[in-house]
Amino acid sequence: MTDTMKGTAIKGATRPSRDFGEGRVCSESGCDTRLSRYNKREYCYSHAPVKYPRVRGRILPEGT
Ligand SMILES: [Zn+2]
Repeated sequence: MTDTMKGTAIKGATRPSRDFGEGRVCSESGCDTRLSRYNKREYCYSHAPVKYPRVRGRILPEGT
């Protein structure tokens, strides 16, 4: 049994680990994927506004 994931993974952090609320869900309407309380993002992985360089084909215009 390992308990290494119990909040001591942050190296060199001077602040106490702050959470962003518990039980938050994705901000995408209709998506209720739960977010980690330590995840500062507002969206789940599926809706996170990140670019996937491996995606080919259709290029969706940004800013629309
Ligand atoms: Zn989502």
